Amino acid sequence: MSERIYPCIIGGEKFYSADGRTFRDINPAQTDDVVAEFPLLSREDAARAIDVAREAQAKWASTPAPERGRILVKAAQIVENEADELARLLTREEGKTLAEARTEVLRVVSVFRFFGVMGYRLRGEFMPSAEPKTHLFTIREPLGVTSIITPWNFPIAIPAWKMAPALICGNTVVFKPASYTPLIGYKLADALHRAGLPPGVLNLVTGPGSTVGAELITNQDVDAISFTGSLEVGEEIKRTAGGRNVRIQLELGGKNPSIVLDDTDMERAVEMIVRGAFGLTGQACTATSRAIVLESVADEFERRLVERVKRIRVGNGLVEGVEMGPVVGERELNKILDYIQVGLNEGAKLVLGGRKLTGPEHSKGYFVEPTIFKDVTPDMRIAQEEIFGPVLAIMRASNFDEAIELANKVEYGLAASIFTRSLPRAFEFISRIQAGVVKINKPTIGLEPHMPFGGFKKSSFGMIKEQGEAALDFYSKVKAVYLGY
Ligand code: NAD
Repeated sequence: MSERIYPCIIGGEKFYSADGRTFRDINPAQTDDVVAEFPLLSREDAARAIDVAREAQAKWASTPAPERGRILVKAAQIVENEADELARLLTREEGKTLAEARTEVLRVVSVFRFFGVMGYRLRGEFMPSAEPKTHLFTIREPLGVTSIITPWNFPIAIPAWKMAPALICGNTVVFKPASYTPLIGYKLADALHRAGLPPGVLNLVTGPGSTVGAELITNQDVDAISFTGSLEVGEEIKRTAGGRNVRIQLELGGKNPSIVLDDTDMERAVEMIVRGAFGLTGQACTATSRAIVLESVADEFERRLVERVKRIRVGNGLVEGVEMGPVVGERELNKILDYIQVGLNEGAKLVLGGRKLTGPEHSKGYFVEPTIFKDVTPDMRIAQEEIFGPVLAIMRASNFDEAIELANKVEYGLAASIFTRSLPRAFEFISRIQAGVVKINKPTIGLEPHMPFGGFKKSSFGMIKEQGEAALDFYSKVKAVYLGY
């Protein structure tokens, strides 16, 4: 078997598809670079992984939680030791710059350490009883088998922040990474196994969402589904799995605004918005896609923004000095270019970018110019729909109230930020903005792993947050105990 063909992992063993079929994992900055090949599993193979996870679950649940945590902490150390190599691989596979990739890999280290220590702190509650000689308390129990389905844009951090709370609570996992980025997902699973995770506790399956993913959603032996991805697939999962007794958490898209008030430090605001809109090539669910600027400072904002964005060097993320990598694939590139055309047709004014990049540095990859539209109005599709690329829409508001109204006038509610020196306006924003992540004088992107994460409105479904201690609530069920003595 060719060295670049990697296996899935089922029951701790290498697993290939029965018919030997594979799919290719391509470097989006240089499409003749095949990073790896992975098995194209069938639905039956995915069902087998679920059976194996079911068999392993009771023993894992009875392993003391601090011991489960010890394995997570050890895996954190392995990932930290190998961070440079993992970051390079992540850049090659997904396209983000090396600095962005390193930040993401180190996020995994924090997540594993945080949830590893939670092995000592899987607390219930203790309360007084209304009856004499009685104690009331609650304990947490695992749910059973969890399906974890993840997107390509944070292909090591998102699986880690789902797996770690699932595992520490005593669940077993079947994990399906996105088909653009299976190798970094494989490396994560491999680190956990090298840290001592028993066979069958974490199983990795690769293949199409429509078959392998669908099995992870519909199989009756699955007790919980944690999915991050697009609104369309999330809605489909809700329709198919919503009727039965399975716990579901869906983290979906965003259309995140940054509001710029007239009392702000403009240089800082521009820098933060550039980071939010064009960092990670705009391919973050929390990316800034709308800058809502007070009329009185809008000309200055636009001038400074254009000057700054013109200096962004787009290229292969492995190259020193490159600030923005490619988009992940041809389909995503075409979707972004289609949205740029939609913006033009709708009458928005293109002030920068808008084209696919060609030429020696770019001809082999999926590169697009950082793009800015102005005169965008709330009825336009580019003001409403998630583009998931480096495209920023500038909208003008005549006052603070109108800025908040514009910010809220979308069906999503993931992240939002405001730039102001006024504490009262900042607090007003915190209370009126419809978003699960709210930032003051900070970019919409960037999360800390011990804070709860999740959106409002159509950005999330399931209500229980990811990350932080809140994540334990999703991956466990509570038993209420009445003890009389
Ligand atoms: P996607 O919905 O196309 O795919 C996500 C995952 O679901 C992939 O592993 C895919 O193979 C699988 N899948 C596809 N169809 C399926 C089906 N019918 N049943 C089960 N699984 C299926 O999303 P994507 O293109 O990989 O990622 C981009 C999207 O993810 C964007 O919309 C972005 O906003 C969102 N995202 C959200 C968050 C968040 O936390 N809210 C974070 C990152 C990305």
